[in-house]
Amino acid sequence: MADAQKITKNSDGTLSVPDCPIIPFIEGDGIGPDIWRATQRVIDAAVEKRYGGQRRIEWMELPVGEKGYAKTGNYLPPEALDAIEAHVVAIKGPLTTPIGKGIRSLNVAIRQKLDLYACVRPVRYIETVPSPMKHPEKINMVVFRENTEDLYAGIEWASGTDEAEALAEYLKTQMGSNIPPLAGIGIKPISPGNTKRLVASAIRYALENGFPSVTLMHKGNIMKFTEGAFAQWGYEVAKAQFGGQTITEADLYDTYDGEAPAGKVVIKDRIADMLFQQVLLRPDEYGVIATPNLNGDYISDALAAQVGGLGMAPGANIGDRCAVFEATHGTAPKYAGLDKVNPGSLILSGAMMLDYMGWKEAGTAVREAIQAAIKARRVTYDLARQIEGAEEVKCSQFGEAIVAQMK
Ligand code: NAP
Repeated sequence: MADAQKITKNSDGTLSVPDCPIIPFIEGDGIGPDIWRATQRVIDAAVEKRYGGQRRIEWMELPVGEKGYAKTGNYLPPEALDAIEAHVVAIKGPLTTPIGKGIRSLNVAIRQKLDLYACVRPVRYIETVPSPMKHPEKINMVVFRENTEDLYAGIEWASGTDEAEALAEYLKTQMGSNIPPLAGIGIKPISPGNTKRLVASAIRYALENGFPSVTLMHKGNIMKFTEGAFAQWGYEVAKAQFGGQTITEADLYDTYDGEAPAGKVVIKDRIADMLFQQVLLRPDEYGVIATPNLNGDYISDALAAQVGGLGMAPGANIGDRCAVFEATHGTAPKYAGLDKVNPGSLILSGAMMLDYMGWKEAGTAVREAIQAAIKARRVTYDLARQIEGAEEVKCSQFGEAIVAQMK
């Protein structure tokens, strides 16, 4: 076995992944240690099963969150951020947001400091998991949510503050816009640069993973210069960077009689409220969805619910410099240390990470094994309470059950 080495990024944005990459992990707070133990066990087993002794991951722990504070007096030590950037790919459990310590959210800070501009959330049905849909198996979507701007940029002022009053006065006297008395005010910036890099990454993903369409989800009928511009810039980047590999929905019907030529991704756009209806009524017409921050927050949780809940939803935050794969739920403090909760979200995020590294056989092995383990109905409490005839097992036992299913 080769010595452990860092993953590196090539000038064209692709990765060079050694056979024994060093991957930093943040265990996380609350239930983090329980779900991380199960996850590491499953990922290591999948790599071992698929590549024998040829490949292996060398894990490197980064003390962040409560562990970081205990060790360094800092919840988010700068060395941890440097290490993630230096190693290109990392994985993390959930982190508690320390209340009253002047930190808005550690997760948001990590995304901002590393410029992880795309929040990527695949949504796929796992057989046996109870779903409110009649045909949840028709859902196979991946949401690319812009992570750095929109109403989440944190530019807002509370009702009655000097700043809110001054801005209201400026808008009234200089721009002719009236704001109701005592309104809190938030600013919604959406820029061409940040939109285009997000939509470009969504199109690249669709092309690489065989998705037939990228839908630009927006509310441009009302917010023309932010959400409407998002759609317009999305079409522009599709044409400029992927002209030979994409067609618009108009081309699809005008030129191709409704049948997309092989290998071409259809770029379409939908008004946000309409898309919420469509993903319930005709989910199989949608693949990759690219959208600004707030829409993306809503649609990714709604889609996760359609396939049976947030407990199993995987996710990643990806930028040009590095990528962090993470559980989408929080630290569930009441279950901390009980070896009880479902590690599925972090395990499936680990499978995404393996795909991202190009170790797709191992990623597929993880997804197939988790599917088989759930089908065998030996599951953690959250699934056991919904699946008829299921036997409740601990978090670690569920991890072992997944490993046992690996072919
Ligand atoms: P939460 O930790 O996600 O927990 C809410 C509920 O969701 C739990 O009580 C549990 O429901 C269910 N749940 C969550 N994870 C589960 C799992 N792995 N298996 C089974 N059930 C699971 O949300 P919260 O209580 O609002 O947040 C707690 C802390 O987490 C806060 O400090 C928050 O800032 C932080 N947080 C971190 C992240 C992150 O790191 N990305 C994300 C969100 C929140 P039942 O009790 O009904 O079983």
